[in-house]
Amino acid sequence: MSAKKENLMEKIVSLSKRRGIIFPGSEIYGGLANTWDYGPVGVELKNNVKKIWWKYFVQEREDIVGLDAAILMNPKTWEASGHVAGFSDPLVDCKKCKTRHRGDKLLEEKFGVDKIAGIKLEDVQPRLIKEKIKCPDCGAVDWTEAKRFNLMFKTHQGVTEDSGSLVYLRPETAQGIFVNFKNVLDTTHMKLPFGIAQIGKAFRNEITPGNFTFRTREFEQMEIEYFVAEKDWKKKYEEFKEACWKFFTGYGLNPKKLRWRQHASDELSHYSKETYDIEYQFPWGWGELEGFAYRTDFDLAQHEKFSGQKLRYREPETGKEFVPHCIEPSFGLDRTALTFLLDAYTEEEVRGASGEKETRVVLKFHKDIAPIKVAILPLSKKEELTKPARDIFNSLKSHWMVQYDETQSIGKRYRRQDEIGTPFCVTVDFETLDDKAVTVRDRDTMKQERVSVDKLNKYLKDKLEAC
Ligand code: ATP
Repeated sequence: MSAKKENLMEKIVSLSKRRGIIFPGSEIYGGLANTWDYGPVGVELKNNVKKIWWKYFVQEREDIVGLDAAILMNPKTWEASGHVAGFSDPLVDCKKCKTRHRGDKLLEEKFGVDKIAGIKLEDVQPRLIKEKIKCPDCGAVDWTEAKRFNLMFKTHQGVTEDSGSLVYLRPETAQGIFVNFKNVLDTTHMKLPFGIAQIGKAFRNEITPGNFTFRTREFEQMEIEYFVAEKDWKKKYEEFKEACWKFFTGYGLNPKKLRWRQHASDELSHYSKETYDIEYQFPWGWGELEGFAYRTDFDLAQHEKFSGQKLRYREPETGKEFVPHCIEPSFGLDRTALTFLLDAYTEEEVRGASGEKETRVVLKFHKDIAPIKVAILPLSKKEELTKPARDIFNSLKSHWMVQYDETQSIGKRYRRQDEIGTPFCVTVDFETLDDKAVTVRDRDTMKQERVSVDKLNKYLKDKLEAC
């Protein structure tokens, strides 16, 4: 039985808190709206998502290299990229309760993203009123005209707070890649087509953050700028589209809950000629998981113009110089981790120790995503069992994230590990002292197998590291 749609989010939020996956931010001070902190289990989940993404798109490809650029950048970057002038959302105020909302998103909730995408600013308020869209806070239908609200966070660098010290927290990691295009080219001698990948924080002063970690003001992105000659963009675009789809499905996301959605021409960002999003069917509806844009030569050409530096590629065969075009898969790390979490969440009816029916909650993560790979559980707290159990823990801990747990009943410990998606539980019992073997329990099938201690490492390696 799969978890009921309507309260799946509540279950995920409460499980996350209970099991140290994600906590509300600054909780002891009453929190800070829509900020979230990853706990001991959550940080492993997030690190694993970064790891598999990096492995898939950087390590296993010869044509993509990595980068880690600074969050604070010369503010000219954001003039060149178009963010100062154009990175904004339509904001409407409720005249009755004075709360602020994203007009397009209110309409999208009722009519779906396909029908609302690209709506003109001046049409937002009349449409909200015509369709009698109520304020989510007070229920009134009394909206101000929509105005543009720039999403970039501003701050000041240094000791003075004048306009000369103004800097922005980057709203996307992409620009750190574009400004380093020449550095990477000069130091690696990459040949077109090639890409530069980066994982890092981005900040957007979203008008209506929400849905747990789906939309926050501080988040992480995993982006690739893939440079091509103009004539090759379509071919590479299609290849990359397929690779992105395989990334998600290969790591276990249910393909029935994934779809591609093409942006209509009036929805496209200022830099894009073609964009598709991979969307996931979240409990509240379809939502963007990854954006995939053909950015043309817009960014490099703009940076050439604003910096006065040449950002060109010299074709070795012909000596011809040109500004490469670019395709961009842009993933949200937090959204990806949330999606894996939602997709893995399963409730199953099982028989408890005394034969009664009970519900087992289990996160059926792909093994590479599972935060903890193996739990070592001695059946009793007596030293004759905890000593060999600790020895096993010590022999495995340098290979994988392993947890040692001797508290509470074995049933409760299995339940805890199921709830954080640990693929294998290793139980050390009194028989272990005689047969030098342990019981290995598989998370998904709950089947138990007796494995001799000296073969345990190999047994787990075969299961955890098989491709
Ligand atoms: P949305 O339409 O949801 O606001 P977007 O089109 O503005 O997203 P992009 O600029 O394409 O998003 O950003 C690329 C990716 O970064 C998104 O697919 C998403 O996974 C992630 N992302 C964007 N904004 C946020 C946010 N506020 N919180 C968490 N992740 C985000």
